[in-house]
Amino acid sequence: MKTVSKKHAMSAVKAAPFDPPALAARFEIAARAAGFRLESYDEINGCPLFALTKRTPGPRPRIYLSAGMHGDEPAPPLALLALLQSGIFDDRATWFLCPQLNPTGLVLGTRENATGLDLNRDYLDLRAPETVAHTAWLRRQPPFDLTLCIHEDWESTGFYLYELNPTARPTLADAILAAVLPHCPIDSAATIDGRVTAATGIIRPIDDPFLRETWPEAIYLRAHHTTLSYTLESPSAFPLAQRIAALRAAIETAITALVRDLGKTPAYPPPPQP
Ligand SMILES: [Zn+2]
Repeated sequence: MKTVSKKHAMSAVKAAPFDPPALAARFEIAARAAGFRLESYDEINGCPLFALTKRTPGPRPRIYLSAGMHGDEPAPPLALLALLQSGIFDDRATWFLCPQLNPTGLVLGTRENATGLDLNRDYLDLRAPETVAHTAWLRRQPPFDLTLCIHEDWESTGFYLYELNPTARPTLADAILAAVLPHCPIDSAATIDGRVTAATGIIRPIDDPFLRETWPEAIYLRAHHTTLSYTLESPSAFPLAQRIAALRAAIETAITALVRDLGKTPAYPPPPQP
């Protein structure tokens, strides 16, 4: 996420442009190998908008992950692809992945889509075809036990995250940051992205959707789909491989901690041991 002031200005091109159809093809191969179903829910300028789902039988946590919202943030889709190829999305959960939410921005290497809209401020007004199609897909999905929105920040000096946890469920934030630390420093600033941190590297923004004038994806998810949401932000000034490693560690730890926490409740018995 970025400060409000930036939403009015087009971002400079900061990232090597992606080839979204080629990346989608790589996701499709990895997804089929990992037992996922690929659902193309729309298309924009010839680039597919797609979701990958894998439903595990029996009571399982439902975990949603998204990436590629901002076209100048290359590490998140690449981290998701690497995780998909690694086999981490196994039978511990039912999975919902939207890896490439802004294909035209990825082509251009810009934060906004090709028409200049910041999609991550559009989940209330729904002006962009990408957010219209994405929310239509989301409405067909069940509630999620955890959502992870994966991003990068060009101005931060380290990794940080946003937490939305309105019902005071067990926090995953400390475990995530501890897992990131061997790969990447944590942003220690008292104010990050214009918001005062709740603890080192942790921002807990106003989460009441009705107090927010514009909705990022995370606020939409909190309003309609989940009671526990994290937005992960790797620092773009660091090398790409390091950011991917940090994001992978964060995501793997969040998943492991969530499955452990929900395994303690009757609603989700622990998965069978291999
Ligand atoms: Zn972003």
